[in-house]
Amino acid sequence: MNLMYNSTRNATLRVTASQAILKGLADDGGLFVPETIPQLEASLEELAGMSYQETAYAVMKQFLTDYTEEELKDCISRAYDEKFDTREIAPLHEAGGAYYLELFHGATIAFKDMALSILPHLMTTAARKNQEQHEIVILTATSGDTGKAALAGFADVPGTRIIVFYPKNGVSPVQEKQMVTQKGANTCVIGIHGNFDDAQTGVKKLFSDRELALELAEKGFCFSSANSINIGRLVPQIVYYVYAYGRLLDKKVIAAGEPMNVVVPTGNFGNILAAFYAKQMGLPIGKLICASNENKVLYDFFRTGTYDRNREFVLTSSPSMDILISSNLERLIYHAAGKDAEKNAGLMRELTETGHYQVKDEMRDAMRDFSGGYATEEQTFAEIRRVYSECGYVLDTHTAVASSVYHTSYAQACGDVPAVIASTASPYKFARSVMAAIDGAADEKDDFALIEDLHRIAGTQIPRAIEEIRTAPVLHDTVIEKDEMKAAVRRFLISEGGTEK
Ligand SMILES: *Cc1c(COP(=O)(O)O)cnc(C)c1O
Repeated sequence: MNLMYNSTRNATLRVTASQAILKGLADDGGLFVPETIPQLEASLEELAGMSYQETAYAVMKQFLTDYTEEELKDCISRAYDEKFDTREIAPLHEAGGAYYLELFHGATIAFKDMALSILPHLMTTAARKNQEQHEIVILTATSGDTGKAALAGFADVPGTRIIVFYPKNGVSPVQEKQMVTQKGANTCVIGIHGNFDDAQTGVKKLFSDRELALELAEKGFCFSSANSINIGRLVPQIVYYVYAYGRLLDKKVIAAGEPMNVVVPTGNFGNILAAFYAKQMGLPIGKLICASNENKVLYDFFRTGTYDRNREFVLTSSPSMDILISSNLERLIYHAAGKDAEKNAGLMRELTETGHYQVKDEMRDAMRDFSGGYATEEQTFAEIRRVYSECGYVLDTHTAVASSVYHTSYAQACGDVPAVIASTASPYKFARSVMAAIDGAADEKDDFALIEDLHRIAGTQIPRAIEEIRTAPVLHDTVIEKDEMKAAVRRFLISEGGTEK
């Protein structure tokens, strides 16, 4: 029997996993959630001996039940291959008594690669299974990391095209260079004069433009989303928590059945929600520690039961966590409300209309596995400095937020239970902040000089993703006004037949 998926805003809506992946978001604006959380079939002892790919199959087959074994294994082997710079895919690195789960060894050196390297394969397989005749067009607005990871994932995947809009002056030089040098005839990268919100609003408009949808359907295209609310991004993220548990067993840090805690630098709440699902599957996880930067909406929520986005938006050195509306939290709210779609929809409406909502004690009780913490900019920089000076290990700014929260507020109380800290980006991606934290003066140097400095002090290899963009030719140089996005999409898909360079 297939595991079905409901919308968090309408429990009578039921679709298969592959349909949920194809659609991305439910028509009522809700997120797809599994009707029940399946249990892990593999025993905990077995996990110790399993490769990343084997673990991925063991987890994903429980959730994506309408995919055949052959289909899933094919998706997994195409995703987790030499694109990663280590065969372990997600190595666990011990430093200073904590275990850093390095999720940045993929093509774009941030944790988005863990899901976005498999999503294109899950999606094209889903299209085949559901007799979707149209070519899938992924539309994305990005503030940096997601765009490049989606481009890398979808480049040259047959049956797909991808169009990414980014704010011309709103991403870091490394992030921009990563995107505009993207190869693949099915890729299109466009800068817009405007900020991230303008790009995001423009993309939402394109998604709901019926005239455009009809015109494109006639030409054989349909839109889909690689956004983090797609269940096809969430399920692959459960895998690495199960894998981390296996590594701890293998290293004899714990015995089968003993718990680990996880600490996750959080923005949109996708990564930590995957850890929650892993726990629901039967993985012995104790605490789920949700770490925020100065945009500490989630910390306040877990502490008080009130979610309130009416506050100043702070730009920090961990930009991928600068978020005031954590979209994936909706899945936890739905779960905590006892799968009451109406109640959840009401709270979400309140959030849209007033910017806040409050949950009652019984709902807070259902979320008791979670606890929060936050780190200021000063604490984040101090943590990078501390871990480097004590262990010689260099953290990126996002990981440092989590590490700071753990060591400041939890380490002592957690005793012998090992902490797995999700390490979400390579320090090379944020070399300017990292070098500023470690040796103070970074202002007068360019990004590549700082990368060289980092290489010297860290003694780690400069990732291929960085080496490649140093010399790679710029292939995308289109920059448009924000009201020209529709015309740009039509040009790429219809006039140029997808060979835009
Ligand atoms: C996206 C991202 C995060 C936040 O992850 P969520 O799943 O959105 O909570 C943290 N760190 C880095 C480096 C990211 O790219």
